[in-house]
Amino acid sequence: MKRLPEIKTMTNSVQLKFAATFLVLIAVLAVFMNTYPTIAARDLVFSSKKASLQNQAGVMASALSAPEELTSDTVPAVMDQLDLRSLTRVIVTDEDARILYDNAQYDPGTGRYAMFSEIARALSGEIVCYSDYDGRAFMTREAMPIRSGGTTVGAVYLYEYDETQAQLIASIQNRLRSVSLIVSAAAIILMFIFSRALTKRITELAKATRIVSEGDYDHRIPVSGHDELSELGTEFNSLTARLKETEELRRRFVSDASHELKTPLASIRLLSDSIVNSENMDAETMRDFVNDIESEAERLQRTTEKLLSLSRIDSGASLTRERVDLRKVAEKTLRLLHPLAKENRVTIATELQKDCFVWGNEDLLYRVIFNLAENAVKYNMPGGTVDILLKSEEDEVILTVEDTGIGIPDEDLPHIFTRFYRVDKARSTDAGGSGLGLSIAHDAVKLHGGDIAVEKCAEGGTRFVVRLPACPATPDRKSTRL
Ligand code: ADP
Repeated sequence: MKRLPEIKTMTNSVQLKFAATFLVLIAVLAVFMNTYPTIAARDLVFSSKKASLQNQAGVMASALSAPEELTSDTVPAVMDQLDLRSLTRVIVTDEDARILYDNAQYDPGTGRYAMFSEIARALSGEIVCYSDYDGRAFMTREAMPIRSGGTTVGAVYLYEYDETQAQLIASIQNRLRSVSLIVSAAAIILMFIFSRALTKRITELAKATRIVSEGDYDHRIPVSGHDELSELGTEFNSLTARLKETEELRRRFVSDASHELKTPLASIRLLSDSIVNSENMDAETMRDFVNDIESEAERLQRTTEKLLSLSRIDSGASLTRERVDLRKVAEKTLRLLHPLAKENRVTIATELQKDCFVWGNEDLLYRVIFNLAENAVKYNMPGGTVDILLKSEEDEVILTVEDTGIGIPDEDLPHIFTRFYRVDKARSTDAGGSGLGLSIAHDAVKLHGGDIAVEKCAEGGTRFVVRLPACPATPDRKSTRL
């Protein structure tokens, strides 16, 4: 089995892209899971701490705003009445920032000047409050002016150092980290399994495409499941089956066409060799030989013309369309067929309605009528008749060619439009046929968006019915390409 390096690289990169996208997504999710809840919880604690400290500072400031002067005696007396258990440090100063009360256990600053900027700002009338979190504890500071009779007589400074809330947040953070690690690991494993399965199927598809493109039209992909890739596999299989069919048709066509061209050419060579090699050929025999050569050459010409028509229909290129009067085309055809009909003692009866216009290629439409009418004469019997009817019905033009001839056996009817198909090979060859006339008619009708059908007549003979879309009386189209 041949190696397929390009395909491997391609699918690997698909897997890589898939994995990279997934990993980025997981990473973003993990970062989000590990940061957002902590930030939200921290902000929540910040605001609750600020509110509580502000509240306590407010209570103290109003308790201390009594008319008596703030001294290192009066302030502790008031402070003893208040609940200061949750606070790490409480400082009360007079209007000069001298500390009148400090609850610090070691080295309280009573009597000294407070050097905190918060106190300086509070003494200038501001309420200062902010909270910090360093990963281990929440540190909240609050400074508020003490007012009495409209003037600032001192300041309260509160500081809280809280580790409990910080530990809570840290434990949430740890749990989130573990959960996100487990989820990420599970997602990565699943992603790996899934992407492997997916790329394996893509690789199979790419491999199958390569095998088919190398000419093995029997190769099929095993399809299971109902997802898009299975659908693609089914489509691929049916495409390959159609390719196989087309390839077989093409091969058969080429071999049949070569055979059709080879036979008259071989006869011509044989006849001309006989003339060249015989020394004393009498004039009569020579004339017979030359006549035979001429008729073989004519056959060759007819076959090549038909092959050319087919290839023009197949390619569909350079076929111009115009408004064609089928009645005129039919009349021309019948004039051309008259000598053959006379020779075969066949009567042609026609009933051609006026205004049977079709939008199409005149040459191809002529071939349709000619081939059907010619067959009706060729495969007829002496004294037989051919009826040609042309009528327009609603938006269709209908052409019927009916004969009283030898008829087509039932088993041949389904194949009659196949290229090179002949019912009675000997008889067809005698009549100058190649098995291409009906397939040209069929393909040309289909190219014009019409339909052709064949049926046996009750009294023997064959009836061909062609339906083509009618062209409106005054078409708004100029001549176009098919
Ligand atoms: P050919 O060039 O051999 O006539 P066609 O494609 O026109 O090829 O026709 C295919 C075969 O169908 C013919 O060989 C002939 O046996 C049969 N056939 C076509 N038209 C008629 C008809 N009107 N009556 C009887 N047999 C017909």
